[in-house]
Formats: sequence, C-alpha cells, structure tokens
Amino acid sequence: MALPFSMKATVAMKPATSPIPAEMIEIDDDTETVGCDGGGGALGHPMVYYNFGTLTQLDCGYCGRRFVKRGAGTAAH
Ligand SMILES: [Zn+2]
Repeated sequence: MALPFSMKATVAMKPATSPIPAEMIEIDDDTETVGCDGGGGALGHPMVYYNFGTLTQLDCGYCGRRFVKRGAGTAAH
C-alpha cells in the first residue's frame, strides 16, 4: 500500500528581499568605490557612491544594477 507523500512536497520560494539585478556591470578588481546614477533615462536616479570594502559585488539600492569585480573568484577567471 502506497502512502501519499504530501509531507515531502517542497515549494521553491524566492526571498522577497532579493530583487533581480537589472544589469550587471564589471569593474576592475582594484576599484574601491563605484558611482551610479542609473545611467539616466527611466532608471535614472541621484548620483550615489558605494564603497566596496572587502566585498566583491554589490547592488545599487536605487536601480538594482549589480557591480561585480572581474576577479571576484568565479570560475570564469
Ligand atoms: Zn543605480
């Protein structure tokens, strides 16, 4: 007799706090600060600067662009 495996059902849920990046921008490995104004147009926003510190990537809080260092430890390099 087979039992229904209803308790094993899993639902893939996206975290509501992780917006999909609108665009990915590669920057040099030694860059410490990036500035973003959304590129103007519909996504334009006031110029903001982000300090990487020890990060290898960060997202712009305004337009969602993702800045990624070229040598960020991915398999691509
Ligand atoms: Zn931006």
